[in-house]
Amino acid sequence: MDINEADNSVAVPHLGGVNLSLDFVNDNTPDNTATVRETKPKHARLWMPQRAIFTPAALEFEHGNRILERCEPLSIPVERLKSNRLTNLRGETVRATYAAAKRTLAVVVAPPSHFKLTPIPPSADWQFHLAEGCPAHCQYCYLAGSLSGPPVVRAYANLPQILENLAAYETKDETSFEVSCYTDPLGIEHLTGSLAECIKYFGTREKGFLRYVSKFDAVDELIDLPHNGQTRARTSVNAAPISDRLEGGTANVKARLQALRKLAFADYPVGLVIAPIMPLDDWKTHYGALLDEAAHALDFPCDLTFELITHRFTPGSKDVLLQWYPNTSLDLDESKREIKRNKFGGQKFVYPRETMKELKSWFTEEIKARFPNGKILYWT
Ligand code: SF4
Repeated sequence: MDINEADNSVAVPHLGGVNLSLDFVNDNTPDNTATVRETKPKHARLWMPQRAIFTPAALEFEHGNRILERCEPLSIPVERLKSNRLTNLRGETVRATYAAAKRTLAVVVAPPSHFKLTPIPPSADWQFHLAEGCPAHCQYCYLAGSLSGPPVVRAYANLPQILENLAAYETKDETSFEVSCYTDPLGIEHLTGSLAECIKYFGTREKGFLRYVSKFDAVDELIDLPHNGQTRARTSVNAAPISDRLEGGTANVKARLQALRKLAFADYPVGLVIAPIMPLDDWKTHYGALLDEAAHALDFPCDLTFELITHRFTPGSKDVLLQWYPNTSLDLDESKREIKRNKFGGQKFVYPRETMKELKSWFTEEIKARFPNGKILYWT
């Protein structure tokens, strides 16, 4: 087993439908029984937006029309816009805008900038996007501060073009593509079908590999796809006090692990993204219980990787998160962190070196003990 130190700060967002009330989202009731309790799988409710808006340009694409055909039988109110600009997305307050946006699906055409891919180390060689925005409500959300405008879920109708564009980025060596940077692709799959299209496309490639990660669990439509081993399906998991309190609208960890088990049985390479790791009180007990649960779910030989991502935030993401989740219990105290700067002068707040060292060493050992054939891809 080898472990690589990743210098990169962002790693993979998620790296998590629902129409939650904001009271639920901000319910921070302490739950100290989470350590070793027996939980039952709690499946994520399929996201049913209260508004699905389609631009005229999106409806020129077959894939855009397929999304429309999925929405209509579900009685999701559909609006066909007259222009390609999305308007009327803001409420009177930031919170009202957030609440409305999280209940809105916009089907649009991905802009030309999305056809010039950018690298996404350490997760993959390249990132591409089938959507931006996510229906879940994680109080540490990686998208806060990364996407502009109200956090509407924008799904792209020009998916075939997006996929066609990828071949130019493949090299003679294996080339990996991450599709979860700006969305949780499984969380919207019942409305878009886009992830299945990606998996089928990569199933035809020899050197191109797809990676996705999710906090949802509706994987049944993926099981029989001709994935050809070219897609690594990952689930994002965390210790119970974090996932129970901070990850609104997602499947619980047990349900995510069951979904991963199904995918591994269907011969998908699989992965666990443990993120964002936080040294909460009694963290060894909580994360030990998580690893035990994962070992129980994956108790047969499978191609398994780990990605280990500690919590970090920037001044910008903190600002947005506190507007979205003003009552959050998420620890965003800069005085307990060290500053890490990137080459562009941006700064982020990470855990102190000693804490990071202790966490890294513990996770390395504990994973090795439970998953001798698992491979840790990186620590960040
Ligand atoms: S809200 Fe969605 S995108 Fe944000 S962290 Fe949760 S699952 Fe990931």
